[in-house]
Amino acid sequence: MKTPYVFTPGPTEVKENVRLARAMKTTNPDLDEQFYDFYKETCEKIGKFLHTRNEVRILCGEGILGLEAACASLTEKGDRVLVLDNGIFGEGFADFVKIYGGEAVMYSTDRQKSIDIEELDKFLQNHSDFKYATIVHCDTPSGVLNDVSKICPLLKSKGIITVVDSVAAMGGEELRVDEWQIDIALGASQKCISAPPGLTFLSISEEAFKAMEYRKTSIVGYYSNLTLWKDYYKNKWFPYTMPISDIMALRVAMENIFEEKPENMIRRHKILGEATRKTLKEAGLELYIKKGYSNTVTVFELPEGIEEKAFKKFLLDKHNILISGSFGYLSGKVIRIGHMGENAKADRVSYILYAVQDCLSHFGFQVKKDMVSTFLNYLQ
Ligand SMILES: *Cc1c(COP(=O)(O)O)cnc(C)c1O
Repeated sequence: MKTPYVFTPGPTEVKENVRLARAMKTTNPDLDEQFYDFYKETCEKIGKFLHTRNEVRILCGEGILGLEAACASLTEKGDRVLVLDNGIFGEGFADFVKIYGGEAVMYSTDRQKSIDIEELDKFLQNHSDFKYATIVHCDTPSGVLNDVSKICPLLKSKGIITVVDSVAAMGGEELRVDEWQIDIALGASQKCISAPPGLTFLSISEEAFKAMEYRKTSIVGYYSNLTLWKDYYKNKWFPYTMPISDIMALRVAMENIFEEKPENMIRRHKILGEATRKTLKEAGLELYIKKGYSNTVTVFELPEGIEEKAFKKFLLDKHNILISGSFGYLSGKVIRIGHMGENAKADRVSYILYAVQDCLSHFGFQVKKDMVSTFLNYLQ
């Protein structure tokens, strides 16, 4: 298989030491007590990364399992759940709520803007009877970023448990779980963390654990029942055999992040994200989002007459680059440049911009300003 340069908003490029970690000889993760310590320490590293003292658990399954596990464990039949929706993942939370018998109350806002805090505050003054609320930090299909630092404390002031999908933001955007009062924050291995796909992890507050434990009815499902994980360390028991090789790789990916320092990593994303957006605008392209940009992905509208399929094919055939369109209501309308984790590097973003410009000009769109030089100027 010829491997392309992967510039999708997840999965991302995986560093060599992370890839090699998966090839290490392993023990039996169920029976060897050393692994319980290894797992616990890895969870603690993730907790430090998320600025939380809450318990962290790593589950075997990619990001979607994290979303489903949070909803499965919290939702009882008839529970009212507030679903904050300004994007495809935001809206999608409603499906999980409904599968587990909850009533999803939608709070849908302009999809080209981050959720307005004052308006949400007004809404909550009259409607606050919810067991929990779901929020997406960066809604990846559009690249909109929601200010969870303000949204979550607001929800908590009404006694609502907060569930944040930060799969596509954490590592590239600041996330302070305890300070921002996030009961469940969930992420995945394959975005800014830059490990291969296959793992999700969640930080779970005491209040969220209590809400799961003091239910009237039992949790539907086994794989997504978070209470099974509560005392794994004391009992030296996992609900199923842990994917030890994946966790060893995730551990190295987390160590890479701490070697760079999380705050430096966030700064790097900010600088590159801003420079990418400015470059595309000056080139004459239209960004999809109007307010609230995530520094992990940039989404621009395809110029009139250029087809998504042809655009992607040209980049792959001529430049060996795998890039992403979008899906749902954005299908065929936009192109997404993922600059997450290992891909948020000046040389890599320069290469994708060079190729995008070449592709645009091939299809008859002449940029107003050379993209690579504009981009590099912004980095100085
Ligand atoms: C990637 C992602 C997930 C995980 O789902 P995938 O199946 O990998 O797309 C969940 N939420 C968000 C916001 C994501 O970007």
